[in-house]
Amino acid sequence: MRNKVIAGNWKMHKTNSEALQLVKALKVKTAGIKKTGMIVCPPATAISVVSDILSASPIAVGAQNLYWEKHGAFTGELSAEMILSAGATYVIIGHSERRQYFGETDDTVNRRLHRALESGLKPIVCVGERLDEREGNITEKVIETQISGALKGISGAQMKGIIIAYEPVWAIGTGKTASPEQAQEVHAFIRKWLREQYDLGTSEAVIIQYGGSVKPGNAESLLKQPDIDGALVGGACLEADSFAGIIKIAEAIN
Ligand code: PEP
Repeated sequence: MRNKVIAGNWKMHKTNSEALQLVKALKVKTAGIKKTGMIVCPPATAISVVSDILSASPIAVGAQNLYWEKHGAFTGELSAEMILSAGATYVIIGHSERRQYFGETDDTVNRRLHRALESGLKPIVCVGERLDEREGNITEKVIETQISGALKGISGAQMKGIIIAYEPVWAIGTGKTASPEQAQEVHAFIRKWLREQYDLGTSEAVIIQYGGSVKPGNAESLLKQPDIDGALVGGACLEADSFAGIIKIAEAIN
């Protein structure tokens, strides 16, 4: 069975000293966690210091984005090798904020994904519909377009190492959460798609996280759904108490 994996996306928050304070507290508060996967994704500037503090801990570190070229004249971008050398092992790809503000498309998500896998970084690929798309009853169509675009050319063996995060855009940072039933419905759809494109074993192995205003108060009902294998947490991961609270809920369900 799949163990839950909880990842925290810090977005553009935390200076290096604030980052250190947060992970030190998180380490203490999650000391008894045995089965739940834990990942923190600080801003790129803090990956190195956070990785040093977490080097002997089960909490893994991820970046929030990467570029698909290995090096070159790409001002402001980060290569997979740079991220790995700073100590991260995961990378978030295709977050809705990247799609909304920075021109990310399914094609650029796919390029980043191939590069991440080639380099050995473990990807968390985000998909999710906007409110107008949900209200227009095209959620499944949108998700199918996003996953088939993002996963183009990905083999079954590679697929097993990819985390998919279903994050309805209307639930991110808004305080609105998809109901456990709404989220489960889309997660089941993604798993069915994986079964049809790959096979049963692959579809059962892939971790599908939910993201969108997950907090200690709503985590249990979401994480108890059969196809929700964890959470990608934004706002609630910025405080050690709330992030550790979600992790402990996952651990109790695992
Ligand atoms: C996110 O940014 O991935 C996210 C889910 O944010 P929040 O938890 O704040 O909605």
